[in-house]
Parts: sequence; C-alpha cells; structure tokens
Amino acid sequence: METTATRVLATVCSGTLGLLIGSFLNVVVYRLPRGESVVHPPSHCTVCQTRLGTLENVPVASWLVLRGRCLHCKAPISPRYPLVELLTGALFAALALSLPTVASVAPLDAVVAGVLATALIDLDGLEVPPSIGWATLACGGTLVAVSVATSDPHRLGWAAIDAGAAIAACGLHIGTGRIARGDLQAAALASSAGWGFAAGWVAQGGGLAIGVVWALLALAGWLRGEGARRGMIADAGAVSIVTIVAGAIATR
Ligand SMILES: [Zn+2]
Repeated sequence: METTATRVLATVCSGTLGLLIGSFLNVVVYRLPRGESVVHPPSHCTVCQTRLGTLENVPVASWLVLRGRCLHCKAPISPRYPLVELLTGALFAALALSLPTVASVAPLDAVVAGVLATALIDLDGLEVPPSIGWATLACGGTLVAVSVATSDPHRLGWAAIDAGAAIAACGLHIGTGRIARGDLQAAALASSAGWGFAAGWVAQGGGLAIGVVWALLALAGWLRGEGARRGMIADAGAVSIVTIVAGAIATR
C-alpha cells in the first residue's frame, strides 16, 4: 500500500534524478551523434578544453553561478544545457507525482529520457544513433512486467494498440523519405513502438494522439514535398512527452 510519504519521497528522488539525467542527456546529445564516447573524456569546456570540476558540473546551479560562461576562458555556455536539465527534472517529478503506481516511474522516466535525446539530436539536424531507439523500446517493454506485477493487464491492450498506431505513422514518415538508411529505419520503428507503447500504457486511448499527430505531420510534409525537414521527429517527440505526462495527470 502506497502512502503519501512514499509518493513525496518518490517525487523528490525522481526530480533529483531527472536533473542529473538531464545533465547526462546533454553529453549524450552532443557526443553520441558525433561518434564520441559518453564517458571519456570527462566533461570539459568545448572551447578551451579545460576539464570541469565537480562544482562546475552541478545541474542548473553551476550555469547560474557562472552566469552562463566558462570559468576558465569565459566562453558563453548555451542556456540550452540548464533548460534541458530543468525540463528533465520537472518531467520526472511530474511523472512520479501522477503515475498510478510508483513501480511504473522508472520505466517511464527512461522512455521520456530516450524521447528527449532523440528530439534534441533531431533539432540539431544530426542523425539519431540507432542505439537510442532500441534502448527506448526496451525501457517501454519493461512496463509489461509492471502490469503483470501490479495485476493491471488492461493497460497492455491500449499499449499494444498505440504502439501499432505509432509504428504505422513512423512507416508513413519512412515512406516520405524522411529516414533513408535501413538501420535507421529499423531503429525509428523500434523507437516509435516504445513511445507509443508507453503513451498507451499511461494515457490509454489518449495515446493514439501520437500516431494521429505524427501521421498528419508525415502527410503534410509529403504534400509539401518536404521529405527531410529538420525537427519533424522532435515534433513527434514533443507530442509523445505531452501525451505521457498529461495522461498520467488525467488518469491520476
Ligand atoms: Zn572554456
């Protein structure tokens, strides 16, 4: 039986974890599409290459204290870094506060992190590494275990239907030439299945929003002859995140 104290503790932990994961996502989004390791070398200024100390790496706070500049060379640091950290922390806290069971917080936090990474890389105009798509599908898939453990199997029906809708919409995008290479197409389908499955699990029928909006975006792009518009995956990502969080709040 969950108490209010459990819920408050889960919200604080999830929010704090979100700030740290947001900081890690900044590293992932910058390095992974460039073929660099996410663990080595340690965090450094991309201008003067000076390695950052622990106090220069605190999510949001370091950027504020340093007033958005490198401590060593004074080069400006994009406000996107603290904003991604804040957004991830806020989304993780909102999910922990609203989801039906605390057990479902970790898989959904992981799916949201995967969607955010995918959307940010797409906004940068870079190729989304296939590993992110497969990891997102795996994280969404762990909701099957949560449903079994919490005797809540009716969510799985909607999850499967919404995963199907998201896969179909992604297929339309692939048809427009938005995603050309075979391995990227497979990963995009996996990613869509993960997003749709998670959204269906949380928002049930409302999770169909992802498939519908993304299909409309694909059709609009196809009609205008814009096969490769940057940010189209990010649009679908935003719809997915709103669906998951709004679904969690609405079905609370
Ligand atoms: Zn510097």
